[in-house]
Amino acid sequence: MSYGGSLDGSFFDLFALPCMSTQNLTFYSCDSGKTRVEKEAAIADFEPAQKYLSVCSDEQDGGDNHGMNNCSHCEKCLRTMAGFYALGKLDNFSKVFDVQGYKKDLSRRLGWWLGSKNGAFQREFLDYAAQNNVHIPAGVYVWKGIAKFWKAMYKVFGNVRFIRKILYALKLDYLIKGYRSGYAHKKYGV
Ligand SMILES: [Zn+2]
Repeated sequence: MSYGGSLDGSFFDLFALPCMSTQNLTFYSCDSGKTRVEKEAAIADFEPAQKYLSVCSDEQDGGDNHGMNNCSHCEKCLRTMAGFYALGKLDNFSKVFDVQGYKKDLSRRLGWWLGSKNGAFQREFLDYAAQNNVHIPAGVYVWKGIAKFWKAMYKVFGNVRFIRKILYALKLDYLIKGYRSGYAHKKYGV
């Protein structure tokens, strides 16, 4: 499996967690042999997780998260939501994710996530969805194609400032991704 390279903290969790523990609080890293969706299945019916699960890597999302702890748009949120969706357990997490918005915008959000990478998480999601007879609308694949095209363009023009300005002015990010990342505000002041 390919993760986020040598800087990915998951490679040294086992050593880092004891350093963050205090006299009264201990962090545990467990079930490293389980896949992402297997881990989600293990907590899907656990009430504290349904109230407090926090996976988001883009907390400043421009206010589109409808007051949820998790923005429900970034890669980590979409990955986690897709796993619960494939398990048929997404509704259990409506306190921490914008489940209603996700379902209403399923084709675009799932398509965006599937089109952003073709990695182990995406393949695992598709396997679980097929196994659990979870329906994936045809529109998902249309949005997946759009996302792939968007990513290809991003590689070429992503660092060209005036193109980014045009993109934000036309709100193309909202059209394609359904939200504006806090990154845009921080770096480009939009
Ligand atoms: Zn997020």
